[in-house]
Amino acid sequence: MKELRNYINGQWVEADNAGCLDVENPSTRQVLGRVPLSTPGEVGRAVAAAKAAFPAWSGTPVARRCDPLLRLAEKIRDESETIARMITAEMGKSLPDSRAEMKRNLENCLVACGMPSLIQGDNVMNVADGIDGEVIRMPVGVFGMIAPFNFPAMVPFWFLPYAVASGNTYVLKSSEQVPLTMAMQFEMIDRCGFPPGVLNLVNGDKQAAGALVEHPDVAGISFVGSSAVGRAIAERCARLGKRCQAFGSAKNYLVVMPDAKMDEVVRNMLTSCLGCAGQRCMAASAIACVGEQTYHDVVRRFVAAARAVKVGNPLAPELADEAMVVGPVISARAKERIEGLIRSGVDEGATLALDGRGIRIEGCPGGHFIGPTVLADVRPGMTVEQTEIFGPVIIIMKFDSLDDAIAAINSHPYGNGASIYTQNGYYARRFKLQTRAGMIGINIGIPAPVAYLPFGGMKASLLADIKCQAKEVIHFFTEKKIVTERYWDEP
Ligand code: NAD
Repeated sequence: MKELRNYINGQWVEADNAGCLDVENPSTRQVLGRVPLSTPGEVGRAVAAAKAAFPAWSGTPVARRCDPLLRLAEKIRDESETIARMITAEMGKSLPDSRAEMKRNLENCLVACGMPSLIQGDNVMNVADGIDGEVIRMPVGVFGMIAPFNFPAMVPFWFLPYAVASGNTYVLKSSEQVPLTMAMQFEMIDRCGFPPGVLNLVNGDKQAAGALVEHPDVAGISFVGSSAVGRAIAERCARLGKRCQAFGSAKNYLVVMPDAKMDEVVRNMLTSCLGCAGQRCMAASAIACVGEQTYHDVVRRFVAAARAVKVGNPLAPELADEAMVVGPVISARAKERIEGLIRSGVDEGATLALDGRGIRIEGCPGGHFIGPTVLADVRPGMTVEQTEIFGPVIIIMKFDSLDDAIAAINSHPYGNGASIYTQNGYYARRFKLQTRAGMIGINIGIPAPVAYLPFGGMKASLLADIKCQAKEVIHFFTEKKIVTERYWDEP
């Protein structure tokens, strides 16, 4: 069992004795480690280290700032299997999903190594006689990141490599529910040659997160988690005059048109809806069928396919290489909340077409398992339609037209992703242009953009106007100076 420490100023340091939590494998309930709940004082020490490191680091030539990042990319590639196993152990997603998470991690690191190109500014010669205009991008200072539980390795890497390659220093607070993966990644970071203080890791819960937000020397916060917390943090940052990107909750719709290729669609929807036990911010959780016939066809086929999906401990030898396995949800509290939402669906008139409650998994008597669950006959406005369930629970709805389905998506408070299944270019184009969601899929169930493209939603799914990854996030991590210059003629 691992006793976690904080990583501050290039050193692993024991946390103050302010309390700790057990970190459990959600399948087996085995205690994997103990995470300290760091105090505001410890957060302050991490911020002080990052602040002290900023002048030299921001003055280091950009290509040289990428050197340790390139070494980190190599280590991620070489050690990703060990880390993927830890993701699965502490979070519960399938091993192939964890491997895919590590691939995206690596991808973000490599894209950030292109910082000499990404950070380039603009210029215009001769804006007036002999005068030139120039836009230069400057690093800002110390940035903080507050991470969610569902992608323990990858989500912080939507930001961290870009923040430091663009010349800032960093303090990360990982999720107290899954802190072991990030501790392993910081063990790699420790071996990459970053100067002390450039990258710091503080473990803890909302108290540590709050201290990071409040700290006067933190210039900006990237938050990923539930919208309610994100909104509070975004409001607080606005009051404090800090930059903030708050990535929030989601309710991602899949629209099925009558002409969709039904066999492929059902297979595709299954991984989108049930992969990671529905605990992806890009998981589809609502299927919107256009037309009576499509609806009946989808309910029948989807329920049959979902019933056949394996549920269990993703590290059990017989499941370890299965991509489509429904593992546990993260905690007893999450399981109780999800089961409560299933009950509310039934109470409000939905039909329980498949009930995954009460499932027993051999060898995992205390595991937080819920089998695939399908609620049909759901209407817009029901609690299960308005709420992010974040579990293996799918709602299926019927609409008369594509416009009605788009209207339901657009009036929803969240707008992370949305996909359409159709072979018809007219419908696909209409959907792409009119749907209010930040990431759109056309015959793609999880339209999560690769690291070369921006990632982020709309409405309450992204309380910010800058998304993460790639060139886009450089806007967040740099401030622009606009220089107007001239030189008079020499005699
Ligand atoms: P959460 O909001 O409970 O916690 C996220 C982080 O915030 C954790 O580090 C936690 O310690 C901290 N925190 C919790 N309460 C806080 C408070 N009052 N003040 C300050 N910090 C606080 O979210 P979670 O359950 O860990 O993650 C799941 C959520 O994250 C889902 O809603 C999911 O959709 C969302 N998510 C969104 C995206 C996206 O790109 N939009 C990506 C991944 C996850």
